Amino acid sequence: METGWLVLFSVALGLTVGAGFVILLHAVERRGNNAMSIVSSSVPDGIDQVIDAIDFAGLVLDPSNNVVKASTAVYTYGLVANQILAHDEIAELVVEVRRTGEPVNQEVTLARGPFGEASIHLEVQVARLGSRYVLVLAEDRTEAYRLEETRRDFIANISHELKTPIGAISLLSEALDVASDDPAQVRRFAKQVGTEANRLSQITREIIELSRLQATDVLATAKRIDMSAVVSAALDQNHVIADARGMTLAVGGSKHVEVIGDETLLTLAVNNLVANAIQYSPDRSRIGIGVHHTDGVVELAVTDQGIGIPDDDLPRVFERFFRVDQARSRNTGGTGLGLSIVKHVVQNHGGDIRAWSQVGQGSTFTIRLPEASSDSVAPQGEKR
Ligand code: ADP
Repeated sequence: METGWLVLFSVALGLTVGAGFVILLHAVERRGNNAMSIVSSSVPDGIDQVIDAIDFAGLVLDPSNNVVKASTAVYTYGLVANQILAHDEIAELVVEVRRTGEPVNQEVTLARGPFGEASIHLEVQVARLGSRYVLVLAEDRTEAYRLEETRRDFIANISHELKTPIGAISLLSEALDVASDDPAQVRRFAKQVGTEANRLSQITREIIELSRLQATDVLATAKRIDMSAVVSAALDQNHVIADARGMTLAVGGSKHVEVIGDETLLTLAVNNLVANAIQYSPDRSRIGIGVHHTDGVVELAVTDQGIGIPDDDLPRVFERFFRVDQARSRNTGGTGLGLSIVKHVVQNHGGDIRAWSQVGQGSTFTIRLPEASSDSVAPQGEKR
């Protein structure tokens, strides 16, 4: 429990509640917003002030379970309607606390969004306040919950991703042993071992790349970078495969647009986008790479005429290891880490990335970065 909560609990429980009260309802405009606050003349002053001061949800219930004091956040979360506590689970906690006299602490989930698809995780504490009142405090733990979930998923995914090629290598080594008298079979299995080993090394390389990106501040060692150089380097890395599949890589837009950053990382990001565009498009299709700049923002868009991404999956493609079609991506050597790396590179450069896609029509991934102004210098004072 946080120290602030402990203090608040101590203050709350230490205060006595006077008898014979009249509830006054006031609409109080406070701290620049219009949240309604309900004040009871008999709620002790100390509690009034503490609830006014807290930026998390806190409310006081009278013996009839009317809300007699509530902080602004209570209304933000929709915990109160018509001066009544509107959350069943918390209301049950209140009943329990009245019955036992013991404070309780529990995590509750609020459904949010038009279809209840988003959740808010609140850590709720309920305690008696004197003999008549009950105090409810709720702290938003959604961010911590989400981080923990991402961490758990990441570890589960890494284990899964590593287990697949390791398992294959182990089986192939047994197969090699059995086929030791058959040179053709040995060559075939040896080739497969090589493929799986490459896969393992690509996954480890990309995981290391990702952790490095999360730990470093790119802009501390940044230089002025010409985006044309980034685009040509990324195209060079993809020409062979594009040519082999009869695909056209068309570059357009403004020349000599500059950003402040790290050329290797920016090339890696654009390379990943172009490689994906090739990977998820049919032979002989066209891929466009355009660079534009307006109002100090550089936009680099990679557009393909490929298979596209379903609407439901689109927001998830930047998650680590997320793949629309697991089997297809894995068969073509995908790790599900490419777009996550792009997102981190772009964020480290103070930019963002957006994706547009239509199934069967194609996709466009657009990176936006702050443009280097004509007189801006690299952080170390380097000037061209
Ligand atoms: P992968 O290594 O699997 O390509 P990425 O992180 O680069 O991983 O991409 C995540 C998923 O997003 C891919 O598995 C694929 O399903 C989808 N995807 C990415 N780029 C495209 C694209 N240009 N067209 C269609 N689907 C794409």
